[in-house]
This record gives sequence, C-alpha cells and structure tokens, in this order.
Amino acid sequence: MRSFRHLTPTTVEEAIHVLAAAPGKSKLLAGGTTLVDLMKLDVEQPDLVVDITRIPQLREIRTDGNALVFGALVHMSDVADHPVIKRDYPVLSESLWRGASQQLRNMATLGGNLLQRTRCAYFRDTQFPCNKRMPGSGCSAIGGVNRGHALLGTSAECIATYPGDWAVALIAMDASIETISPRGKRTIRVAELHRLGRELTLQDLRKQRHLMIRDTGSQRRSGSWLGAEQSWTVSHKATSIHAAGMGLGFAWFPDDMVRGELQRGELKPLPLREGGERWADLYLVFADRDYAGPGALRLAEIIRESVSHQCSKLGHEPLHAESK
Ligand SMILES: Cc1cc2nc3c(=O)[nH]c(=O)nc-3n(C[C@H](O)[C@H](O)[C@H](O)COP(=O)(O)OP(=O)(O)OC[C@H]3O[C@@H](n4cnc5c(N)ncnc54)[C@H](O)[C@@H]3O)c2cc1C
Ligand code: SF4
Repeated sequence: MRSFRHLTPTTVEEAIHVLAAAPGKSKLLAGGTTLVDLMKLDVEQPDLVVDITRIPQLREIRTDGNALVFGALVHMSDVADHPVIKRDYPVLSESLWRGASQQLRNMATLGGNLLQRTRCAYFRDTQFPCNKRMPGSGCSAIGGVNRGHALLGTSAECIATYPGDWAVALIAMDASIETISPRGKRTIRVAELHRLGRELTLQDLRKQRHLMIRDTGSQRRSGSWLGAEQSWTVSHKATSIHAAGMGLGFAWFPDDMVRGELQRGELKPLPLREGGERWADLYLVFADRDYAGPGALRLAEIIRESVSHQCSKLGHEPLHAESK
C-alpha cells in the first residue's frame, strides 16, 4: 500500500494554494469513481490527494439567463434528471443518463467526467507497456486486443479512445469550460480540451509560458529564445522541472534529468510537429592551454570522451579535437 497525504480545502482559492505549494504529484479527488480505482490498480500514484468535495462554490447549476452554467462538482444524475435540462437540452440529459449506472451517476461529477482517464485495458494493467501511463514504454494495444480502440485520430504512440459521453454532447453544443489555476482563469472550448485535433507547433508554444534557466554567460540573454509571449527565468533546473510539473509552463529538459518525472507521468513529452529534440553547439575553450591546471585538462578530456561517445552512438560526425 502506498501512503499519500489527503487534504480537504473548502474554497477554490485554498485548493489552488495547496496544489501550488505541494511537492511531488498531486491529484484532485471529486466523486472518485475513476481516481480511486486507478489508485487501487497502482496506475495513479499521487503523493497528495486534494479532496474538493467540500467546496460548495463548485456545486452550482444555473439555467437562467443566456448561458447554462454547471459547477465542476455537480453530479451526473443532477443534470440528467434536471427538469429544465430534460425539457430544453435533451442531448445533455441523455448523454449523462445513458452513461455508467445509477449508482455511479449519483457519485460521479461533471468535472471528473470530462477529465476521466481512458479505459484501455492495457493502461489499467501495470504489467503491460503503455505510452500513456509510462511515456516511451510502447503501446500494447497496437497489435494487441484492440477491437474497442480508435480508428481515427490515433497516433503511432496510442490508439485509445476517450471514454466519456458528456464531452461529446458539450462539443456538439460548442460549450466552453472555465479553468482556474495559479496562472489565473482560462476559458477553453471543450472541443480543444482533450486534443487540438492536430500536432502541436512551435507557433502554439509561443502563446504559452516558457520556463528558462538563468544564463550564466558573460553576455546574458534575457527572455525566451523561442520568442514565447511570456517567460519565467529561474536559477535552477530543479525549480524549472517542478514548475513544469505543476503546469506552469513548458521547457526543454535533458532526457536523463526528467526520466523519473516522465515515468511517473508528472511530465509529458509534447507531440511537436517540429520534433521535441533540440541540439546545441558545445564549445570548450582554453584561454591558454599551457596555463590550464590538471583539473581543467581532465574535465576537457571527460567532456571530449563523453561527447564523442554520444556522437558515435547517434551516428553523428565524430568530435573534432582541437588541441590549442
Ligand atoms: C463501471 C463504470 C462504467 C462507466 N461508464 C461510463 C459511461 O458509459 N459513460 C461515461 O461518460 N462515463 C462512464 N464511466 C466513467 C465515469 O463517468 C467517471 O468515472 C466519472 O464521471 C468520473 O467522475 P468523478 O467525479 O468520480 O471523478 P474522479 O474519479 O474523482 O476524478 C477523475 C479524474 O478527474 C480529475 N478531476 C476530477 N474533478 C476535477 C476538477 N474539478 N478539476 C480538475 N481535475 C478534476 C481527477 O483528478 C481524476 O484524474 C464509467 C465508470 C465506471 C467505473
Ligand atoms: S492505446 Fe494508449 S492507453 Fe492503450 S496501451 Fe496503447 S498507449 Fe496505452
């Protein structure tokens, strides 16, 4: 059994505060009909579970005025059985009462329904490789038992389907959701919540926050080298990794520094059309080789050896050793 912390904030602001301050992996708990199952199966391994069920602000249903508004904690059954929704918006009511079972609908929430994880059997069984659970491990469904999997909108990495019904009805009605995080409020069309429907481009990234490490060179550059509209510069890579894990921005990290975070699902590689790898030229310059001490010479040797080794492994041009 894995231990985890369990907190019960009573306002949205408090929930955001505990999420922002928590180290490690955090998960929100609503009805628990997906999350608790996945924790029992060891698929989800949060260090902190933030139980949001005591936040009354999130239980609102508004059917008056020009917009229909549902709080994230409203139960599926509350909307399925709501007289105004049944009469005027049957697609919303039906998409909920046809899903799951009455017991589940009484427990499960609208927010949890939108954000439920895939029901791909390989995702839920930690004995099988699954790129969604452990990026880079492979997809067992491709070539496995996959009759219930997707034909369209797949990738070479994953062929899982999105299992919810409510999102489909919301997309048909061109609905939007309002999210709140340490970065503030955002409105996202439901159609764009799960997938853009195309690959991500560098142009898309420029609209997001770029996490940068402070430049220690004598000619310091500031701002995002990618030209992102916003950037945050921090002094340590660990801070940047932590910030990315909290969803505060994107960054390029050396593979070996984030392997653990990728395996635990705390960080995700972005499916960039231009490719996710970035190469940089590395120069090692002696001001005067004759004055270099044994430490500096040994460091130069280590760098040359490891770079040459990596280059030959990747089939790149061998390193040109400069003896000056
Ligand atoms: C046997 C079975 C059959 C099912 N059949 C159907 C079906 O036919 N159709 C269908 O649509 N669904 C079906 N489901 C899925 C079910 O609808 C979801 O489990 C449920 O809607 C999830 O809601 P929840 O409140 O229990 O979420 P939880 O389990 O509490 O959370 C689910 C995920 O969403 C996150 N989350 C929850 N609330 C928020 C929030 N406010 N903000 C940010 N993140 C949040 C959690 O961290 C977690 O990752 C079925 C489930 C089961 C067990
Ligand atoms: S289809 Fe997706 S979720 Fe299922 S095994 Fe493959 S990668 Fe994992």
